[in-house]
Amino acid sequence: MLVLFAVCIGAFGLFYSSLIFTASPLTSEQAQRVETAISIIEKRGFINEAYLLRDLATFRGNDNWLNATVAKENAYAATNYPFAIITLYPDFFTYPEDDIERAAVLLHEARHLKGYGEEDAYEFVWRNKKYLDWTEERYGDSVVWLNIRKQTREMAPNLFVCAFLPQGDCTHERRF
Ligand SMILES: [Zn+2]
Repeated sequence: MLVLFAVCIGAFGLFYSSLIFTASPLTSEQAQRVETAISIIEKRGFINEAYLLRDLATFRGNDNWLNATVAKENAYAATNYPFAIITLYPDFFTYPEDDIERAAVLLHEARHLKGYGEEDAYEFVWRNKKYLDWTEERYGDSVVWLNIRKQTREMAPNLFVCAFLPQGDCTHERRF
């Protein structure tokens, strides 16, 4: 039993190392951007998500061999669960308008770190975007906003059944 256990741990370790070492680390500038986005997540009250991103996740700047064999979940980032490896693609650093948009992408990946699937990750971020100050007024025309709204609509259509609100978006806050 003990031997079997040791073999399993060893196999997991080898697999994990192969995922880490077949991809490159982030540059120090990229790591700084990530840290700034995580601080936003933390300051806006997502303490647990910030902790997972900062202390559990390992960030990589391109695909490991496993990612290279499966379809990409989106253009910005991907998480290998349960290995807690987050791959950040060049689009993650170029398309977001600012660190708040990068925080929104990382909040999505934090849901995967907890083991949740795509539907949950998209819905969680769309429902909580106001706490990040990621609002339609400020970001409604940004590439990332439009892109994520489209993907959220596909993954969590139940959020977009409010015909009386703009875009049918049930999370839309009406201002009077
Ligand atoms: Zn995802």
